[in-house]
Amino acid sequence: ITGTPDASDSEALATLHRVFGYDAFRGEQEEIIEHVVAGGDAVVLMPTGGGKSLCYQVPSLVRPGTGIVVSPLIALMQDQVNALRALGVRAGFMNSTQDFDERRVVEAEFLAGELDLLYLAPERLRLDATQDLLSRGKIAVFAIDEAHCVSQWGHDFRPDYLTLSVLGERWPDVPRIALTATATRATHDEITQRLNMPTARHFEASFDRPNIQYRIVPKADPKKQLLAFLREEHAGDAGIVYCLSRKSVEATAEFLSRNGIEAVPYHAGLDGGTRAAHQSRFLREDGLVVVATIAFGMGIDKPDVRFVAHLDLPKSVEGYYQETGRAGRDGLASTAWMAYGLNDVIQQRKMIQSSEGDEAFRRRAAAHLDSMLALCETAQCRRGQLLNYFGQEPEPTGCGNCDTCLTPPETWDGTVSAQKLLSTVVRLQRERGQKFGAVQIVDILLGKRTAKVIQFDHDQLSVFGIGEELSEGEWRGVVRQLLAQGLLAVEGEYGTLVLTEASGAVLRREREVPLRKEPKKPVSAKGSSSS
Ligand code: ADP
Ligand code: ZN
Repeated sequence: ITGTPDASDSEALATLHRVFGYDAFRGEQEEIIEHVVAGGDAVVLMPTGGGKSLCYQVPSLVRPGTGIVVSPLIALMQDQVNALRALGVRAGFMNSTQDFDERRVVEAEFLAGELDLLYLAPERLRLDATQDLLSRGKIAVFAIDEAHCVSQWGHDFRPDYLTLSVLGERWPDVPRIALTATATRATHDEITQRLNMPTARHFEASFDRPNIQYRIVPKADPKKQLLAFLREEHAGDAGIVYCLSRKSVEATAEFLSRNGIEAVPYHAGLDGGTRAAHQSRFLREDGLVVVATIAFGMGIDKPDVRFVAHLDLPKSVEGYYQETGRAGRDGLASTAWMAYGLNDVIQQRKMIQSSEGDEAFRRRAAAHLDSMLALCETAQCRRGQLLNYFGQEPEPTGCGNCDTCLTPPETWDGTVSAQKLLSTVVRLQRERGQKFGAVQIVDILLGKRTAKVIQFDHDQLSVFGIGEELSEGEWRGVVRQLLAQGLLAVEGEYGTLVLTEASGAVLRREREVPLRKEPKKPVSAKGSSSS
């Protein structure tokens, strides 16, 4: 706390103690709250879990009138309101899940000045009827949550958010605070402009979580690798293991339990009672491991989660950051560990291609995946790459607390190998009109006479056996890295490999292909080369 507290300052702090039961503000919360309480506009960029809610909840309580919170997360409104009511805060919400009578009760409470906070869906606030209602009551502050939804370039664009620019014209004396966790600097500027908040003060919390050690290892035998990681570094610790499918959640939880690590599954396919029981055990007990799909974690606030492990690749850097961010809220050393392999890339590319979304959706999903792959394949500091992604400046010398800083990966000139691989793909397509997946391509390069190679006469190709200088695992690494670099693409439900526009430059020797060296023996993976 700096300087002498003025009246509103101490009132904010008193509210924090009295209503929320917390000792002190975190990070920039105090400055943000002070600014808004004094009537200023604010644009707040803070990572998930950073404590954005208090930034508008406290001003709503301190300033006269009701705080209006615009949020697209209708499913969470009821929970948020319940949580506030449990603290004695007079909160309500208006959205499409309510019937007419329920809405009328909330309207009456608002008009009578009996609400501290009112949550609204953006499509409701857009309506004239809603705006007229708001004009007849007293408003303390407008909070625009998930403000990146205003960005047409983001993945969460909501057209209704564009109409929020009228708030400043219609209520010039009511301060506005826009909050987001997923903005890059470009989105930040877009928020300011589209919400028409030119005089807003900008607050940007650091996305760095220095106590989290980031590590991404090549996937060989993921369950065994996970077990070794837990035994060696996190015996008896609480943590979360994320898997993509319900089936692998179940299998992994069972595998860990069988090997002496207390683990329970959590996914949307389990009945509500089981889910609630596993979640409350995780919160209550000391060293429980929850194996979960990404359904687990939202709103869970356990400070001593010592590790977050991913056995499958998250769909985006935002997802990865959010999920790993559940580790180490208490500030103590924690690990974000992930096993990642070729099949992750192929599977996710296939999922995007077969998704129901339109072309624009698929393009965005592909771009998100590309950023995630770049993080996996980087030979630079992982933390630096993460911070760059969120538009923040990393330490130029590296963080010293990620795998690439601790053991810098060796790189090698993979140009010739890339050419061999790409020309095998070309040969198959030009000479035979065939497309194949990674397994067959690698078998051809290695000169393996497998049943499938014989069946298709692939031992007659001129490229048969031209890649014997690399092992199978190394070739899979080359495929993976070419996919990540966009020099190779995956097509169709069988995941066949095809060239991209950029492949030509490699084949014509106009472009070099630096690659990360695959570790000869991935940590405690025995003999298995499938990934
Ligand atoms: P965000 O909306 O930024 O994801 P929340 O507002 O949900 O984050 O806050 C994350 C967690 O941190 C919540 O459990 C909240 O109660 C807690 N928290 C926020 N600010 C403080 C504080 N000043 N002191 C203690 N706990 C806090
Ligand atoms: Zn680093």
